[in-house]
Amino acid sequence: MSDQGNRRRVVIIGGGFAGLFAARALKRAPVQVTLIDKAEHHLFQPLLYQCATGILSEGKIAASLRALLRKHRNVEFVLAEVTGIDAERRRVMATRPGRKTAEFGYDYLIVAAGVEQSYFGHDEFARYAPGMKTIEDALVIRRRVFGAFEIAESAADPAERRRWLTFALVGAGPTGVELAGQIRELATKTLREEYRHIKPEDARVLLFDGGAAPQATGAKQDRAGRIEVGPDLSVPAHPEIMVTGDVMSLNKLPGVAEVAMQTGLYAGRRIRHELRGEVYKKPFRYYDLGSAAYLSRGRAVVSVGKLQFAGFPGWVVWLFIHIGFLTGYRNRFGAVLSWWFAFTRDLRRERTYTTRQVGIVGDVYEEPPTQASAAAGSEQAP
Ligand SMILES: Cc1cc2nc3c(=O)[nH]c(=O)nc-3n(C[C@H](O)[C@H](O)[C@H](O)COP(=O)(O)OP(=O)(O)OC[C@H]3O[C@@H](n4cnc5c(N)ncnc54)[C@H](O)[C@@H]3O)c2cc1C
Repeated sequence: MSDQGNRRRVVIIGGGFAGLFAARALKRAPVQVTLIDKAEHHLFQPLLYQCATGILSEGKIAASLRALLRKHRNVEFVLAEVTGIDAERRRVMATRPGRKTAEFGYDYLIVAAGVEQSYFGHDEFARYAPGMKTIEDALVIRRRVFGAFEIAESAADPAERRRWLTFALVGAGPTGVELAGQIRELATKTLREEYRHIKPEDARVLLFDGGAAPQATGAKQDRAGRIEVGPDLSVPAHPEIMVTGDVMSLNKLPGVAEVAMQTGLYAGRRIRHELRGEVYKKPFRYYDLGSAAYLSRGRAVVSVGKLQFAGFPGWVVWLFIHIGFLTGYRNRFGAVLSWWFAFTRDLRRERTYTTRQVGIVGDVYEEPPTQASAAAGSEQAP
């Protein structure tokens, strides 16, 4: 690639659906692409709840970005956390591992950084209620769910047992519904015969939904800090900066994978056209391909255009959609195998934990010790 030094530079922030699809759209384009992500993997967020409930391992819902991009010769992956953008100087600032700072110049910038978990102004809830955005979140939830059954098993007081067997989820969107369904399935099927002092099927799952929470913040549609863009996905006064995926706010489009993929593709396509000297006037248009949610084993709801599937047919369609969109053929194969074991034999293999981790689960919900009780405790210590 002798002409690489003269090529226009495209920086993509984020290797989720939007960033990855933008990079793919630029494959073989005469540009040098730098994709920066603070994670080394592309994460399939729609299946996080299956990782949180022990069906799939983290490796089956995440694929290495370096491996995914290895054949895109004009794309370099950089593991770093972006800390700022200087739009005037056209530079992206980032921190690389080892706390080294770095700057990346660009001719085009595609922002595809997704959004953080929102607690609607109550970040203090995060200690008790982990979000569901990253692999780390899913693993914390997994430890808390399985750990709660362990603590209940060792509790002598029936009221305490009942408390530990009560799971409260906030947010009754598809993820909340799917996670609630999985915890019940876990309790009534997988764990049914594994405990001697508790009946896992007694577990109660409470699903709360506060439809009024967004209004409470006073914000309108941009409550998650999403960036408003024009019809070509660019920000005002900077046509070279495009915002894609969840972090973008346009025509109230939902934060779903399809929007992220289609905006990523659009951004890549627009750059290709402009490199050829063409003016790309086509505004971004979203094609809604439908939605799907898994309820419990063998039951899902799927809506594709005018077609609606529910129950078992819905589950079959759900299965094919997810196999199709999982990134990396090894992930697909592994996921199908894990589903086979989970659905036919009640097996959830992904649940390793130790007393230490279960202890941490308990500590999270404990009242912090008062000074008096801490002093009393230290007096009794041998
Ligand atoms: C639990 C859950 C379930 C979902 N279920 C569905 C579903 O069933 N169907 C559906 O269509 N959609 C679903 N979604 C939504 C869908 O996953 C998102 O719309 C999609 O992932 C958004 O893609 P994105 O590329 O915009 O952002 P993301 O996938 O969030 O990717 C953003 C990337 O940017 C990186 N990043 C962020 N900040 C920085 C930084 N400062 N520096 C460097 N890198 C950074 C992150 O590490 C990440 O890799 C679900 C989402 C979640 C969380």
